[in-house]
Amino acid sequence: MIGTIFNIQKFSINDGPGIRTTVFLKGCPLHCLWCHNPESHRIEPELFYNENKCVGCRECARACPYGCHTFPDGKHCFDRSRCIQCGKCADICPSAALETVGMRRSVEDIMTEVLKDRVFYETSGGGMTVSGGEPMLQFDFTLALLKSAKEHGLHTCMETCGYTDEDKLRAVAPYVDLFLYDYKETSPARHKQYTGVSNRRILKNLRTLNDMGCDIVLRCPIIPTLNDRDDHFAGIATLASRLPHVTEINVEPYHPLGSGKAAMLGREYALPDLTFPAEETVQDWIARIAAQTSVPVKKA
Ligand code: SF4
Ligand code: SF4
Repeated sequence: MIGTIFNIQKFSINDGPGIRTTVFLKGCPLHCLWCHNPESHRIEPELFYNENKCVGCRECARACPYGCHTFPDGKHCFDRSRCIQCGKCADICPSAALETVGMRRSVEDIMTEVLKDRVFYETSGGGMTVSGGEPMLQFDFTLALLKSAKEHGLHTCMETCGYTDEDKLRAVAPYVDLFLYDYKETSPARHKQYTGVSNRRILKNLRTLNDMGCDIVLRCPIIPTLNDRDDHFAGIATLASRLPHVTEINVEPYHPLGSGKAAMLGREYALPDLTFPAEETVQDWIARIAAQTSVPVKKA
């Protein structure tokens, strides 16, 4: 079973309990304005180009069969419209200015990597987390990966946006010890505006997991000027309070790390003027949610 991933992050401490290895899968059905992993959007491998690292050697122009790299007036110009993502230019680039994002890997390969840190999982209560992108977009691969992790006795988490078929979610649920379930916006109209999709299916799937008795942490990205509103905070608190298997609410403060990555993918970043919120602002968000629910609220 082969899947496309874009990272295996070791010693992760923010993707579930204990020390974990997080496997990031490519492909996502949502396109959140604040996404900090824009390289996860497309399922196929793609190219990062960091012009600050380019030394102007023109090896990429020699390697590319499609003429994507040109040097008018000595300046490197990368025409992505003709690129077929073959990776030849990235393979030859001496300064890593060009880099292929996305690797085809087997379940066995990934598990070999994940199991290297078993001792840390056992001493910290950690395990393996699958994230993305949206892991459910590569359903067969994600299911096989989770099954394999459970066969090896690992604790498993899955971070999901919840925008998937209910049947598929039911199928993976027996192999997931804890769902890290995104809840991005209470207003249906704003949800569509911010993420590109309706939140109806997401809420239905969340209730399904709750009714199945799955443990769930609600993960709430809070983005200044977009969803740092009282009605959304009330929506988070109400939702968590009504679902007995939601054990915790995580507030994920906005960070602008997607901006540089979007530039390296040749894409516009939707929120160029936003910066990190101050710590007192984040604590204020947490307090406003916590005042309306008995479910613990923590900063992610
Ligand atoms: S191969 Fe790399 S360093 Fe050389 S010109 Fe191309 S992008 Fe720049
Ligand atoms: S990935 Fe392949 S097609 Fe795309 S620019 Fe590089 S060499 Fe050309």
